Amino acid sequence: MALFAFDNTYARLPDRFHVRMPPAPVAAPALVRVNRALAAVLGVDAAALASPEGVAVLAGNSVPEGAEPLAQAYAGHQFGGFSPQLGDGRAILLGEVVGRDGFRRDIQLKGSGRTPFSRGGDGRAALGPVLREYVISEAMFALGVPTTRSLAAVTTGEPVQRETPLPGAVLTRVAASHLRVGTFQFFAARQDEDALRILADYAIARHYPDLAGASHPHRAFLGAVVEAQARLIEQWMLIGFIHGVMNTDNCTISGETIDYGPCAFMDAYDPKTVFSSIDHYGRYAYANQPGIVHWNLTRLAEALLPLLDAETEPAIERAKEQLARFAPAFEAAWHAGLRRKLGLTQAREADLALAEDLLARMQANGADFTLTFRALCGAATGPAGDAAARALFADPAAYDGWAAGWRARLAEEAVAPAERAQAMQAVNPAIIPRNHQMEAAIVAAVERGDLSVFEALLDATARPYEDRPGLERYTLPPQPEERVLQTFCGT
Ligand code: AMP
Ligand code: MG
Ligand code: MG
Repeated sequence: MALFAFDNTYARLPDRFHVRMPPAPVAAPALVRVNRALAAVLGVDAAALASPEGVAVLAGNSVPEGAEPLAQAYAGHQFGGFSPQLGDGRAILLGEVVGRDGFRRDIQLKGSGRTPFSRGGDGRAALGPVLREYVISEAMFALGVPTTRSLAAVTTGEPVQRETPLPGAVLTRVAASHLRVGTFQFFAARQDEDALRILADYAIARHYPDLAGASHPHRAFLGAVVEAQARLIEQWMLIGFIHGVMNTDNCTISGETIDYGPCAFMDAYDPKTVFSSIDHYGRYAYANQPGIVHWNLTRLAEALLPLLDAETEPAIERAKEQLARFAPAFEAAWHAGLRRKLGLTQAREADLALAEDLLARMQANGADFTLTFRALCGAATGPAGDAAARALFADPAAYDGWAAGWRARLAEEAVAPAERAQAMQAVNPAIIPRNHQMEAAIVAAVERGDLSVFEALLDATARPYEDRPGLERYTLPPQPEERVLQTFCGT
């Protein structure tokens, strides 16, 4: 039986959308991990994936039955500068699988060798960043955030040359699709209106099928992507996630998080937090994310202009109308999300100010973002539960001053304390993949060949909203000497 029941649609698109080519074989593939739960969703036999034949496929040494391997073409704005041609420089799309849930997903190998889009790159990935993407993408999934996922990781038995030689690896990435804002920009830059139309219709059929019958499907499509991205970024913001490299080629049409490079979760709350070593000006800092995604969506709107033409009004007005959906969608979701984090079920005018006051006090007092909100779940049952939250503030009185107003506001809602605490625990995670834990997992794997730290982190982050005895260390922020100050991209 075939490993994957491929049913490919992207490969049916015209030749200028892709370059057909197989992945480049590697010296000595070895399995790191297969994601059994995801394999089950895809209808793939996890044991077959883990067999030598399966590992050969995951490493790119053999092309499975039904695959139509290709590198996708795309462009993109990187840190504000436009590159008319990027494309899959180290990834190969094997094909698509319709899962047991009826949902179509791409199966892609990342780190699978050079392609015509590689420019100066070697087409490969190092084990550390592959483990990082595996853990963080799966943690995001467990947190309930739309994301690409990780089906498997293998080592290649070949070194990749970075600052030092590092063990090479290949990640099998699963995504609703790999269509990006940059895919549209690729054809817009070539003034290829036919391709733009084909791509837009393809994206509608794949991600927004309900819009196919709209009176202006392409306008509605732009609006739908705007809203999907607004909802996505709001979810990042609510869990303290910083993507780190929100270039337009890393901004999906599906609304999934993609490309886990220099991403990281905040420990102490500071809206200016940046980790990426190449983000010198803080373009992609935590608090800038909503503005930047709106900027990216504006680039999508520009690319779509030829399709938005109307008889009576210029296309640009149509584009602006759709872009204007961002702020209300983002704000509604952000405010509702903050209310849920604070245990509030009804909307009141002053709630946003209450939340912002807490955030300001957290910032001034170096309070850990994740732990503070988790501690509030206990504090919601009454002042007896305040100790854990207070202890997170450099000046505990800063917490007390806020908590008095919060309690008064909670008292306006007749919700049983235990029920409220439970609802809060379902949105305020206990465990996120903290940078120092991720770093420890990578160091153990790369320097000592020890995957147990990676496996334990994966297990801990798989149920983020539960208090699990024995896993308390995963809830803790780094000790000063464990703190990760910078993360690195494209490695
Ligand atoms: P990213 O910054 O990860 O979004 O990647 C931007 C572009 O660089 C994409 O076109 C990637 O395919 C390409 N790229 C990143 N790393 C490599 C590499 N090691 N070899 C070839 N291309 C790469
Ligand atoms: Mg990318
Ligand atoms: Mg990347």
